[in-house]
Amino acid sequence: MKKNKSDITIVGGGPVGLFLGICLSKQGVDCTILEKRAEPVQDSRSLGIHPVSLELFEKTGLVNEFLEQGISIKKGLAHNGKEVLGSINFDQLEGPFNFILACPQFYTERILLNKFLELNPEGLITGANVTGLHQTNEQVSCRYQKKGKEYCIISKYIIGCDGKNSLVRKEADILYGGEQYTDTYIMGDFDDNTSFEDQAVVFLPKQGLIESFPLPDNMRRWVVKTDSYIDSPTTNILADFVKQRVGTDLKLLKNTMISSFGVQSFSAENYFKDRVILCGDAAHVVSPIGGQGMNLGWIGASILANALSKIKMNPEKETELLSEYQKQQKKIVKKASRRAEWNMRMGRKQIFPYFRKILVQLILKTPLKKIALKVFTMKGLY
Ligand SMILES: Cc1cc2nc3c(=O)[nH]c(=O)nc-3n(C[C@H](O)[C@H](O)[C@H](O)COP(=O)(O)OP(=O)(O)OC[C@H]3O[C@@H](n4cnc5c(N)ncnc54)[C@H](O)[C@@H]3O)c2cc1C
Repeated sequence: MKKNKSDITIVGGGPVGLFLGICLSKQGVDCTILEKRAEPVQDSRSLGIHPVSLELFEKTGLVNEFLEQGISIKKGLAHNGKEVLGSINFDQLEGPFNFILACPQFYTERILLNKFLELNPEGLITGANVTGLHQTNEQVSCRYQKKGKEYCIISKYIIGCDGKNSLVRKEADILYGGEQYTDTYIMGDFDDNTSFEDQAVVFLPKQGLIESFPLPDNMRRWVVKTDSYIDSPTTNILADFVKQRVGTDLKLLKNTMISSFGVQSFSAENYFKDRVILCGDAAHVVSPIGGQGMNLGWIGASILANALSKIKMNPEKETELLSEYQKQQKKIVKKASRRAEWNMRMGRKQIFPYFRKILVQLILKTPLKKIALKVFTMKGLY
């Protein structure tokens, strides 16, 4: 027998759905996650975990697992391919988490999944592909398919944590608008043959940005700005760009991931409508340059879980509390999106690279550095 009732059903057991499930379970709110994948994610994609998220993980009793799996990045270098233009020491940040943690997404999801199951052993249904919703004033039913069979679960709320192409959002007829940028990138994870150790490096040669981040297991992530989208990315294509722009040779190194991506900035018009609520990429997508999207989803999940636990005690305040969630999160996303856009602009091909060099040196060698420190570590968003 599959569970057919739950106060809250979360569609999507990605990083945001799992964290939301943890926050709700911790506050004694009954919830069930429906996840269409039958197997855990194998992807190393999202990497950067910012201090704000580590603080949230500390409150939920998760932070030690993350610190054990990830690498603490305490310093970032700006480089133009020939020389270091300046650096930022993240250990100047206040608080216990004065670094950015680099943790591949498969570790992140494994930690979140284990914690959720510890708190709510019956709360996850995997291999469950949600196909439709039906709302009345009081409740919402959610249809899903598992191993060719149809099931239905009835709840007070459905929360769409089902990513940027959210079916929940489409079923609730919530508009999703924004911009597809022309910026494109290729990225890959390689054995680390540099001497950068646990430092992140942002190279700003005139042909366009290259970012390089340390990963666990002596690996390094390389992200390279390209002139157009590369349909069939290969390690050789990426290695040629890196060699040509900054001189590092990646050709014979072990590679564990290679992919191309384009960049969007999108937001749902409303983060809730009737019995449906949106969270994570289903509600908002920002450019991944700066590594903020998943962290923004966790901030939103934490705000939303608090609102839902208050609604449980004071149901008459439902609209007020959900409106507050929407207002607060939209403000945070707007700020983060502006920061991501600035990061992206700085990394574009430059006709006059000299001006960018002067600008970067100005930022990193004057009190403006404090602002840069905040921007790169997602501080001051709320
Ligand atoms: C190249 C790249 C690098 C990035 N790096 C970073 C980074 O370093 N730091 C950072 O903060 N962010 C980063 N991001 C952004 C980050 O990946 C997303 O913001 C994050 O994955 C959003 O999480 P989510 O849980 O909302 O959605 P998703 O990760 O998309 O998860 C959605 C889940 O819903 C499930 N699902 C979908 N439809 C259904 C359905 N019908 N029924 C049931 N389940 C369903 C999916 O299987 C999936 O598990 C990066 C993004 C890209 C593209």
